[in-house]
Amino acid sequence: MSKVVITAGHSNTDPGAVNGNVTEAEIATDMRNIVAYCLKDLGIEAITDGNGSENDTLRSAIKLIPQGDLAIEFHCNAFHSPKAGGVEALAQPKDKVICRNLCTAVSEVLGIPTRGNDGGFKPENSGQHSRLGYVRGGGIILELFFISNPNELAAYKASKWALARELADVIAEHVGVSCKP
Ligand SMILES: [Zn+2]
Repeated sequence: MSKVVITAGHSNTDPGAVNGNVTEAEIATDMRNIVAYCLKDLGIEAITDGNGSENDTLRSAIKLIPQGDLAIEFHCNAFHSPKAGGVEALAQPKDKVICRNLCTAVSEVLGIPTRGNDGGFKPENSGQHSRLGYVRGGGIILELFFISNPNELAAYKASKWALARELADVIAEHVGVSCKP
């Protein structure tokens, strides 16, 4: 059985970026739970950094990375201008193709752009989070959208289940599990 590590950015004590009463950590935890659920449906074991509202620290999440064929951690971007937007994935070059596929899925479901000139893929030294440890450990940081962009946040809230199913399909295809009838 394929195993995939799916973790939530930030933690129960570190909310990450905040927009009103919504925190990045809550969105990341929610998406982790839903994607893990969708993966189980496809016959893939998801190893997570907590159950329900638990969101373990980055240090714990990094330790899980070697246990999976693939490791993805969810985050949101944030910027002082509410117009900044789009999806991007930070990873080592070995994961460029899956990063592009994950970003395409997010872009299509939420109707938002992929950032940069490489389909959303970004090398590990870009961006604003303390994420290097996760990428150095061999994982992918998926910055789903900008929590500071009200249109993107609304699109996420309206489509999170469809988004999770698409992401699970991309992951399943990558680890060699056929999911499309
Ligand atoms: Zn973050």
